[in-house]
Amino acid sequence: KLGNETVKAELGRATWKYFHTVMARYPETPTEDQQEALRSYIYLFARLYPCGECASHFQQHLSKYPPQVSSRNAAAGWACFIHNEVNAMLDKPEFDCANLGDFYDCGCNGDEEGGEG
Ligand code: FAD
Repeated sequence: KLGNETVKAELGRATWKYFHTVMARYPETPTEDQQEALRSYIYLFARLYPCGECASHFQQHLSKYPPQVSSRNAAAGWACFIHNEVNAMLDKPEFDCANLGDFYDCGCNGDEEGGEG
């Protein structure tokens, strides 16, 4: 059981890092197509997340707080908010979303072709 908890936490940390980095690289002014891509991605991510209990919780959060995809700021702010919802559920401290800043730099500045950003 302890082993499972450790693995679940490692998966969570790796996933959050990736998830917030996707948002940090999302375009500041996305096209309709890019907005639809992010929205679909988030719903599929929630559905396919490889911890069934987590996926089911996250889908409930999503139905309460639908993804915000109108801009990078909106998407990054939404992701921070929803991660805080998970933090609250798990009795973890709230993260100050004003500190998102350079926290999720992918190290790919200058790589203009990377991802959607
Ligand atoms: P994490 O929550 O993994 O965060 C990693 C780092 O991100 C933190 O150290 C901090 O630097 C930063 N951070 C923290 N909050 C924010 C924020 N709001 N915005 C941006 N950055 C932030 N675990 C369960 O036991 N039950 C579940 O139902 C569950 N559901 C999950 C659903 C999803 C979609 C994901 C990705 C993970 C889920 N987890 C769940 C795992 C859980 O969220 C944590 O990842 C895990 O418990 C490890 O926590 P941690 O304290 O190391 O920090």
